[in-house]
Amino acid sequence: MAVFICSRCGAMVESSGTPNVSGCSSGSHVWHRVCDRGGITPQPGTHPYQCKKCGKVVYCSGTPYSSGCPSGGSHVWVRLS
Ligand SMILES: [Zn+2]
Ligand SMILES: [Zn+2]
Repeated sequence: MAVFICSRCGAMVESSGTPNVSGCSSGSHVWHRVCDRGGITPQPGTHPYQCKKCGKVVYCSGTPYSSGCPSGGSHVWVRLS
């Protein structure tokens, strides 16, 4: 499953396509794709990555994409294990 993060509220969801934009704390979610294969909980074949800016942890098969950090600008992902 792909993982998406909202750059406005920091919500993370697993979805095969772009998630619904309704329900953001400040209007509509602004979704950014974090990775194409992974999850918000540990999945087989994935590694945990944490963003040094927003503190979010995501489990992805490779280095997550950098766009859409809720703390502003680009994520700075660090692999935890
Ligand atoms: Zn949102
Ligand atoms: Zn971030």
